[in-house]
Formats: sequence, structure tokens, C-alpha cells
Amino acid sequence: MTSDQTHVIVGASLAGAKAAETLREDGFEGRVVLVGAEEERPYERPPLSKDYLRGEVGREKVYVHDEGFYAEHDIELRLGRTAVSLDTANTSLELDDGEQLSYDRLLLTTGAEPRRLSVPGAELDGVFYLRSVRNSDALRERLDRGGAVVVVGAGWIGAEVAASARQRGLDVTVIEPASVPLERVLGKEIGAIYRDIHTDQGVRMLTGTGVEALEGDGAVERVRTSDGRVIDCDFVVVGVGVQPRTALAAEASLAISNGILVDARLRANAPGVFAAGDVANAQHPFYGEPIRVEHWANALNQAPAAARSMLGQSALYDRLPYFFSDQYDVGMEYSGLARGCDRVVVRGDPAAREFIAFWMFQDRVMAGMNMNVWDVTDPIRQLIQDGVAIKDRDLVDMDVPLDQLASAARGSAA
Ligand SMILES: Cc1cc2nc3c(=O)[nH]c(=O)nc-3n(C[C@H](O)[C@H](O)[C@H](O)COP(=O)(O)OP(=O)(O)OC[C@H]3O[C@@H](n4cnc5c(N)ncnc54)[C@H](O)[C@@H]3O)c2cc1C
Repeated sequence: MTSDQTHVIVGASLAGAKAAETLREDGFEGRVVLVGAEEERPYERPPLSKDYLRGEVGREKVYVHDEGFYAEHDIELRLGRTAVSLDTANTSLELDDGEQLSYDRLLLTTGAEPRRLSVPGAELDGVFYLRSVRNSDALRERLDRGGAVVVVGAGWIGAEVAASARQRGLDVTVIEPASVPLERVLGKEIGAIYRDIHTDQGVRMLTGTGVEALEGDGAVERVRTSDGRVIDCDFVVVGVGVQPRTALAAEASLAISNGILVDARLRANAPGVFAAGDVANAQHPFYGEPIRVEHWANALNQAPAAARSMLGQSALYDRLPYFFSDQYDVGMEYSGLARGCDRVVVRGDPAAREFIAFWMFQDRVMAGMNMNVWDVTDPIRQLIQDGVAIKDRDLVDMDVPLDQLASAARGSAA
């Protein structure tokens, strides 16, 4: 009888909350325990660098579920509690207050945490990181006071914080070792469009250089770059990427490689243990290798798949990676993975910031990004998934609707 069983989820954020919801939706009648180190009930992080950070929406807008949801669904929320040790042989978990939880199934959704800057002065006051709603509150309060900010790193978090700070009227300098913002994911050509978007808004973009040291008397007052520049500032925001939170899993000897290694059913290498969300490096049926995705849609969709897998349903997780970003009045969505591509084909008008970029390998679409063009994610996904040959000239022809192109490609593949 499943009603005798206990399913425990460690990590009460988007992935954990969606998994708990799915266990109930799919009829699990036993105990569901959702353990979260943060005091806050599960919330979504994307607003923390965007409208929530700018003070345009309040706390109520970020929660995954309303307050009554967990009690109504008989989900035991253990907030402000950290799982400190896992014994997979005895299927038990220990929390920081000594509570022992026996589980029939365990889902690890422990997420990711910001990489720290390791240069002299990194511990000075006035150096901000952004992962939690508390971090966002602290940064919002600092933005309210205005002044000059140096953003270290022009990845997604750095770029969005730079945009929000500019929108709040601060003086913003971004320092990024790559030649353009977001280069690792978007490459030079499309990254350059983001550079121009920021510089048009008055951001000082220092690329091709790193941070040598942060300096100040107690609190940061200036940043010294590796090419010898000195940038005065009132505070610093560091956005140099995240790393999966694997300590609990690693101490329990689960297989770890760039996250917790799981198969396409989200199963780890110990009986009854699963992982999903930012922490999971999951075997992907489409790519034929493990993929770890640090984005909202993956937590939203992969965790329910893990919950179904916990219930013994045959739930392969094969969605293509997808993410979005909003900076100023520029929105984008990205589907697929651009690894190993040989060129970028652009449909539309990059100067007007209204276009779709396709990352190609030979005659196949590997990834697509739509900027300020909407409702095209499905055909882009279809083009990637079908993997049929497609000509650059057809992709760029604005007279041919994208869904028609995707259907034609599908037809020719059949
Ligand atoms: C500021 C910001 C903006 C973002 N914007 C976007 C965006 O625009 N688009 C996009 O696609 N993605 C965005 N993301 C990424 C997205 O928010 C993450 O992919 C998503 O939060 C991952 O969810 P998760 O539940 O897997 O992990 P997390 O959100 O990291 O949650 C993990 C939770 O587990 C808890 N935990 C960890 N270890 C333990 C333990 N041992 N015991 C108990 N609890 C534990 C943590 O405290 C945390 O609450 C953004 C992220 C941030 C920080």
C-alpha cells in the first residue's frame, strides 16, 4: 500500500515544490515531507534579478504556491531545516536538528549556489551575491540608495542585474573576461548584440579583462582590473556562475559529475534516490549524454517527471533545454544546445532587436533564440528535434512562417 510509504524531498524551491505537487496529483497517498534550508516557502528565482529586485512587484508574486497549499495537500513542509546526512543503505536522512526521516523514495532538489569570487578584498562589505530572496532584498535596499555599482561577470545574472540597476538609475560598470557578454552560451556574434543593448542604455562594459582585487577600508570602494584599470564604486555584485549543491549526495557516495548523475528516469545510483532541477546531471535521450540545465523551465518540468518516476511510472525526461531572459525592453527565449555548431543563421532584424538566431551544425538546427519575437518556441523545438536537413535560405526567408517550415521539414523526414 502506497499510503504506508514516505517520500522525502530535500530542497524546497521550484523543483521540490513541483515534485511534491505532482506526487499528490498523481495519487500518492502516503507521507510527503519537503525539507528546505531557507525560511521562506518555495518561491521562484527569476523575478529576483528583474521586477522584484527593482521593487515593481512584491513578495506575494514570487511564491510557487499560495500559503495554504501545503497543508491542504498534506505536504509536511520543514522550512529552515537542512538535511545534513544521508544513509542510502538504511534509507534514512538526518536533519540539522537531529530528526531522522526514513524514506521509501528520496528526491534531491538541492539546486545550485553562486561561485564565490576569490581575489583579495572579496570579503569586504558591500560585495553582493544573488541567489535567494534575502539576497535580492539586500540588493534592492542597496539599489534604493543609488550610486555606482560594479557588476563582476556578464552571464545571465550579471547582465540582468546590470539592466535592473541601470533601470533604477545607477551608474553601472560590468567587468567580463570574455570579449562580449554571454559569450559562453551565445557566442561572439549574438553576445555583441547584448553588449550594444547595455552600452546603449549607458552601461560601461569592460570586456576582455578580469578582476584583480577589490579594495576599500572595511567596505569595497574600488575594483582593480587585471589590465590595470581602477573603477571607483559604492558596491559590487558578483555573478560568476553557480555550482550544483552536491555535498549531501557526495557524502552518501552517490555518483557525482557536474551534479548528481541520474539516468533518463532521474534515478541516482542508489535504490529509491532521485534528483532533479539545477543539481541533476541527467542522461538526456535526445543528446545521448548527461545534461545539467541551470534554468527555471528545467526545474518546473523535470521535477514532476522525477515524481512520476518515484511512483513507478515510466517517465523518461526528454524535453530540450529552454530558458528565457528579460533585460530592459528586450526579452528572449532559447531552446536547445549550441555545442559544436559551425555557424549562426539570423532571421529578422538584429539591429531592431527583433530576430531569431539559429545555431547550425552542417544543415541541422541545434539551437534557436528568439529575441522580441514570440510564440515560436514550438516550431524551433520541432526543427531541432526532427533533425532534418534545412537550408539557410529557407530559415531566413521571412515570407515562410516558421511553423510551416517546421511542418515541411517534418513531412520530408517522414
Ligand atoms: C536571480 C536569479 C534569476 C534567474 N532568472 C532566470 C531566468 O530568467 N530564466 C531561467 O530560465 N532561469 C532563471 N534562473 C534560474 C532558476 O531560478 C533555477 O534554475 C531554479 O531556481 C532551479 O530550481 P531548483 O529547485 O532546482 O534549485 P534552487 O532554486 O537552487 O533550490 C534549491 C533549494 O534547496 C535548498 N537546499 C539545498 N541543500 C539543502 C539541504 N541539504 N537541506 C535542505 N535544503 C537544501 C536550498 O536552500 C534551496 O532553497 C534564475 C536564478 C536566479 C538566482
